[in-house]
Amino acid sequence: MLSNLKPQAADKILMLIEEYKADTRQGKIDLGVGVYKDPQGVTPVMRAVKAAEQRIWESQTTKAYTGLAGEPEYRNAMANMVLGDMPADRLASVASVGGTGAIRQALELARMANPDLTVHVSNPTWPNHLSIMKFMGLPFVEYRYFDNDSRGVDFEGMKADIAKAGKGDIVLLHGCCHNPTGANLTMDQWKEVVAILQQSGAVPLIDIAYQGFGDGLDADAAATRLVAQSLPEVLIAASCSKNFGIYRERTGILMALAENTAARDLSQGAMAFLNRQTFSFPPDHGARIVSTILNDAELRSDWAAELEDVRNSMLGLRAQLASELRDLSGSDRFDFLANHRGMFSRLGATPEQVQKLKTDSAIYMVGDSRLNIAGLNSDTVPVLARAIVDAGI
Ligand code: PMP
Repeated sequence: MLSNLKPQAADKILMLIEEYKADTRQGKIDLGVGVYKDPQGVTPVMRAVKAAEQRIWESQTTKAYTGLAGEPEYRNAMANMVLGDMPADRLASVASVGGTGAIRQALELARMANPDLTVHVSNPTWPNHLSIMKFMGLPFVEYRYFDNDSRGVDFEGMKADIAKAGKGDIVLLHGCCHNPTGANLTMDQWKEVVAILQQSGAVPLIDIAYQGFGDGLDADAAATRLVAQSLPEVLIAASCSKNFGIYRERTGILMALAENTAARDLSQGAMAFLNRQTFSFPPDHGARIVSTILNDAELRSDWAAELEDVRNSMLGLRAQLASELRDLSGSDRFDFLANHRGMFSRLGATPEQVQKLKTDSAIYMVGDSRLNIAGLNSDTVPVLARAIVDAGI
């Protein structure tokens, strides 16, 4: 039986890591994999996470199963972090296995509710969105998103395409810090998106995996909150991997805003059922770290301060890179790097140019020219800027 299996295509980003490891050149630079790294290249455990783990170790008296939906303390704290003050009578939520698990459960839930749906996704999007939908056999179409000339959003194209989503279809939107492009909508543009969805009855699924990495914790959630306040039905998949730095703890949440209390209860039941069928109880350790931090004033403010430092260090690197490139290229055509938000920017380079960066300068980025800003430090920014200009980008 097992020999009938077909080989799976290797993950491009994971392949890139292997290639990078095997490169023996001094001064090689890894801008591939999507984890935050400090200027020393380390992905640290945040101070508040360590402190929360210590408290949990000291006070936890049982490791018996949690609820199918996870702990209410965690779900309430996350709902508050993402949505602010939302009326609980419309909100169903379950803890999930990372943000990825929340996305998968959101798509399963949507298909249970509407077996005929089509999912509309940005072009480009996080490749795992596409891979999950292909695996599930869910029909999807892409909407225009990235404008390779401006390296910003092709908003006219996006509007025209998402207007084609019908009632009960899903429109997958990145809540902030678009991955892989770094190009994001303004709040005025989000209002237009909301108006289109109000018109069509398509349901937004907001993937928010980088809250706090762009313009700040509240600013990054502003679009999600606007959508949640304006539309009768909204699905939200949030990840704690990046903003709490707990990648391997697999901590996320799926939230569903329903039209009324009865639909909320149906959603809650279906979401708990989906957890039960998939893995039964969600992991607890990461969720407990998050709720310990968010529900304690001191830990919360220390965590928020460290997250601000992370965010500001990425903004500093963006500004430095844009400025170096302005000087070296004698043009402002790289200013988009300072305007993008989050951990990633799409350079808009060709695959040949990306290859050239690797061959000539030992600089590794994803083939679509997505670079991880956090892979840089103030010493490597000038090296990258020089290499970008030399590669003719
Ligand atoms: N959505 C996006 C856009 C992401 O970039 C990621 C992580 N790379 C996720 C969701 C999922 O994150 P995780 O499952 O690690 O929490």
